[in-house]
Amino acid sequence: MRNSSVDQIIFELLSKEHAHLNSLQIYNEIRKILPAVNQSTVYRSLDRLVKNRKVSVSDMGTGASVYEKITDGYHHHLVCQSCGNVLTIEHQDIEKFFNSIETNNQFKVYTNHLVLFGICKDCQINETNGTDS
Ligand SMILES: [Zn+2]
Ligand SMILES: [Zn+2]
Repeated sequence: MRNSSVDQIIFELLSKEHAHLNSLQIYNEIRKILPAVNQSTVYRSLDRLVKNRKVSVSDMGTGASVYEKITDGYHHHLVCQSCGNVLTIEHQDIEKFFNSIETNNQFKVYTNHLVLFGICKDCQINETNGTDS
């Protein structure tokens, strides 16, 4: 089995699901297609895809890093630490922030999937009302 085929399957899987999958979920999906696949082969392949900037990896507070295919436009997320709700924000909102960081620090930002943690609107309202459901 050639490694390039595992890369290809992972890439197709992430394209199809258009979701954030952790490495174990990806491994389990690949096993349905390639039952003999080695776990370390899958993990090495993920590392390679991340290095080649085809796939993003990030911590979304779910306990395991999640992988997502990088599409034409980057996107980022706001994660509610109270209810776990995930909001998606467009890159243009973050771009200015990245640009000023790059200018001020002479640093090239490679982060392509920024995750910010906080409390969503609904949970703020619930907190104000004093209801703890
Ligand atoms: Zn995402
Ligand atoms: Zn919330």
